[in-house]
Amino acid sequence: MIQFSKVNKWYGEYHALVNINAEIAKGEVVVVCGPSGSGKSTLIRTVNRLEEIQEGVIKLDQQDVHAPKLDLNKFRSRVGFVFQQFNLFPHLSVLDNICLAPVKVNLMSKRAAVDKAMALLDRVGLAHKSAAYPQQLSGGQQQRVAIARALAMDPPVMLFDEPTSALDPEMVGEVLSVMKDLARDGMTMACVTHEMNFAREVADRVWFMDQGEVLEDSSPTKFFSRPTHPRAQTFLSDICSH
Ligand code: ADP
Ligand code: MG
Repeated sequence: MIQFSKVNKWYGEYHALVNINAEIAKGEVVVVCGPSGSGKSTLIRTVNRLEEIQEGVIKLDQQDVHAPKLDLNKFRSRVGFVFQQFNLFPHLSVLDNICLAPVKVNLMSKRAAVDKAMALLDRVGLAHKSAAYPQQLSGGQQQRVAIARALAMDPPVMLFDEPTSALDPEMVGEVLSVMKDLARDGMTMACVTHEMNFAREVADRVWFMDQGEVLEDSSPTKFFSRPTHPRAQTFLSDICSH
C-alpha cells in the first residue's frame, strides 16, 4: 500500500531522510518511533507530499506520490492525516467539519455526507456532539473528530503524527482506543507515536528511526525484547527509565 524506494530528502544541506527502503502492506499497522529530530514527521509527511523528496520513489496504492502531474489537492484530501494539533475549522460545527471535504471535493450530496458523518461520529463515540463547535470539546474529543473527518474521505491509508502528544494524559486512552478499533477493522496505518504500549499491542511492525535512517524494521515482539541496533537499545532503555 505504501512503498518507499531509495528515498532521500534534504532540507538545504541537511540530509533528513537517508536512503529509505520500506513498505507497508494493505491492512498493516506500522509504528514509527525514534528520538526527537530523527525524521519521523518528515518521513510520514512525504507520503501525502506535505514534504517533497529529492531522490527515490514513494508509491501509495500504486500511485507515484511525487509524480509532477499529480492533482495534489485531490490526492491529499484522500489520504487521512491526523496531526498532533487537532486543526479542526473553529468556525464550523463538528458535523460541518466532517462534511466539508466530502461535499466540496467529492461532490457528495449534503444529505449523504451528513448520514456518513453521523455514522463516523457514532464510531468515534461522539454522535451527541455533532452540533458542537471545536472549542466546546476537550482535546481528546477534538482529536476523535479529526479522525472521523479524515475517515469521511474513505482514505486508503491513515497517517498519524503523534496524535496523542498534545493531549492531557487522561485523554490519551480514548484516542488510542479509536485507533485500535481502526486497526482491528483492517485500516492500513502509519503511526508516529511514543505510546509503546500501543506499539506492542497494535503494531504489526515497528520502525525505529535515527538521524534520517530507518535502522530497524521488526515485529513488536522482536523490537521490544531484542532490538538489533545499539541505538534502538539505547532509545528503549531511555524510554523505560522514564
Ligand atoms: P522528528 O519528527 O523525528 O522529531 P523531523 O522529521 O521533524 O523529526 O525533523 C528531522 C530533522 O529535520 C530535524 O533535524 C529538523 O530540525 C529538520 N527539519 C525538519 N523540518 C525542517 C524544515 N522545514 N527545514 C529545515 N529543517 C527541518
Ligand atoms: Mg515529529
